[in-house]
Amino acid sequence: MSAAPIRSVAILGGGTAGWMTAAALSKALSAQGVAIALIESDAIGTIGVGEATIPTIHWFNQLIGLDEAAFIAETGATWKLGIEFRGWQGEGSAYFHPFGTYGLPGDAQMLPHRLIRAWNGGHALDIEQFSLTTQMARAGVFARSNGDPRSLLSTLGHAYHFDAGLYAAFLRRMAEERGVRRHEGRVTRIEQDGQTGFIQALTTERGERVAADLFIDCSGLGGLLIEGQMHAGFEDWSHWLPCDSAWAAPTAADAAPPLYTTATAAQAGWRWRIPLQHRVGNGYVFSSKFQDAEAARSDLLAAIGTPTADPRLIRFTPGRRRQAWIGNVVAIGLSSGFLEPLESTSIHLIQTGIGKLLSLFPRQDCATLLAEQYNRVFAQEMEDVRDFLVLHYHFTKGRNEPMWQACQAADLPATLAYKVDHFLGSGRLMLRQEDLFRDASWFAVMTGQGLRAQGHNPMLDSMSAADNLRHLDAVRAAIAKSAAQLQGAR
Ligand SMILES: Cc1cc2nc3c(=O)[nH]c(=O)nc-3n(C[C@H](O)[C@H](O)[C@H](O)COP(=O)(O)OP(=O)(O)OC[C@H]3O[C@@H](n4cnc5c(N)ncnc54)[C@H](O)[C@@H]3O)c2cc1C
Repeated sequence: MSAAPIRSVAILGGGTAGWMTAAALSKALSAQGVAIALIESDAIGTIGVGEATIPTIHWFNQLIGLDEAAFIAETGATWKLGIEFRGWQGEGSAYFHPFGTYGLPGDAQMLPHRLIRAWNGGHALDIEQFSLTTQMARAGVFARSNGDPRSLLSTLGHAYHFDAGLYAAFLRRMAEERGVRRHEGRVTRIEQDGQTGFIQALTTERGERVAADLFIDCSGLGGLLIEGQMHAGFEDWSHWLPCDSAWAAPTAADAAPPLYTTATAAQAGWRWRIPLQHRVGNGYVFSSKFQDAEAARSDLLAAIGTPTADPRLIRFTPGRRRQAWIGNVVAIGLSSGFLEPLESTSIHLIQTGIGKLLSLFPRQDCATLLAEQYNRVFAQEMEDVRDFLVLHYHFTKGRNEPMWQACQAADLPATLAYKVDHFLGSGRLMLRQEDLFRDASWFAVMTGQGLRAQGHNPMLDSMSAADNLRHLDAVRAAIAKSAAQLQGAR
């Protein structure tokens, strides 16, 4: 006989992860009458950074029924069409990782091969001219996909920059309206069943006791339940991603916020610049092995000018929990692991945590097979993101500072080495169905980081080299025309 259904869920933590989880569960479980409680401590506070997203944010906002106009107004959001990487191939270099695809509709997989063939034939074509999204980002004009697969506009993609604190507050109102009960106070006592190891209840310093069938650990980097109580263990990825610290500081808002995040390589890491409506978020992610915190703080301030609040220092270890679901505890957000925000993936990973939890939602026995599947997919997702980040760190040029030299000399994870070998050999992007970043992203970053494929897909050889160039000219002209029309229609 099946175990009884879950009747109550307790979420520990009211940061972005906690309130995203509360908003999604309260929507998805409303028909089942599951009671949802959230415990957070104002005294502990939240990490308070996390402002750039990737296009997968759309499905989450749709899932919870969020109106885009209200979301933009409430969270100080701006449009984001991609990320500009500055200095990763030496001072003065820059490349763009656009959301959306390259070329014409339906050309996403073949266009990289067309370009590789032209480049190898000695033609210095500019990759940016083959992406409508990049053209709009460079022009500073926002345009969105029209969803029509026959239209060039369908190659556009976008996400947002937003104030994660305001987003959490917005989601909190939504979740509380749907019946989520918030408890304020630091959790000081955790009751655990001696036989099953399941968590039974959390008690705050005020003496409030919250019992539940299922606990979601959104308590931040420390992972109070998943690590402190369930001893999940941590897989440390510092040997590939040496940065373990960040200074964060806001500056005054731009008069005309750019439509992209900037990630600028620096002495012992890189700086982010994220334009919001009401301020600019800045930060310097650095390796404390290669630069001390005071020197890093000075470097950030020298780059951004006068901040509107004191810089804050955050320490972290890159990597993931060995298990994100154990017994009746599921870790979502920073409690499950952390990868630096180079490709703005943390909020995405919160979403996928929620998505996996909903699709594997357990009964009261929390069947171990469900946890096993969750952990399997979780590990894969984290490793995919890790590999994409390591790609940036490993293949820099013209950066001779000790940290960058160490990254250039480090071995690649085998999974990344496999992708790189395929690309260098035949221009192929070996992606699995589940990979988060798709052809356009890998192609943009591999090319931007200086990787040059030696060959192209032989299917293209049914066309002469001259015809390939003519095709590329036509693509470039169509994109330029569309970009001009969109700018004119502004
Ligand atoms: C430097 C940096 C830059 C980042 N930039 C980005 C970005 O651009 N894009 C992106 O997607 N992500 C980014 N992130 C990640 C993003 O900040 C987090 O994923 C997101 O904020 C979620 O955090 P969280 O809710 O898991 O944890 P937190 O914000 O740390 O929240 C933890 C919660 O748990 C509560 N809590 C903890 N212990 C207790 C206790 N004992 N009792 C009661 N309550 C407790 C706290 O009060 C708090 O409410 C960045 C992270 C860092 C470190």
